Amino acid sequence: MRESVVPGAADRFGAEPPPALELEPKPLIPVPTPTQARFDTASGPDQLALETQSDEEQPFVVCARCRNEAGKFAQSCPTCGASFDTPEQREHNARVWAERKAQLQADRESAHQRQEAMLEDAKHQASVRHNEAVELA
Ligand SMILES: [Zn+2]
Repeated sequence: MRESVVPGAADRFGAEPPPALELEPKPLIPVPTPTQARFDTASGPDQLALETQSDEEQPFVVCARCRNEAGKFAQSCPTCGASFDTPEQREHNARVWAERKAQLQADRESAHQRQEAMLEDAKHQASVRHNEAVELA
């Protein structure tokens, strides 16, 4: 039997009653409930990713005469002054852009393949380490 639970023990020793424990719950900071709707909005991360990865539109013009690049809204080449509004320039840029898009696609595929290879290698390394650990045990 502990002394503190004996009735009148506190009075007998002149002790102050222990302070009441803080049992009131602290006010919680309001946290927004995660909902699927947040990801469905047009301003969501998916939409941003789509906009930055879009390669349907040529973001630049390459001069057919001097091969220098100009902004997509340029009417003529800032380097050699050739007009971009000619069939020759349009045909050249269509070809250049088709090649760039093919190259971008190839780069993405090889980057994806490298990623897959690295993942496979990491799995392999992990299993090798696991087997070594089993053998050492
Ligand atoms: Zn030019």
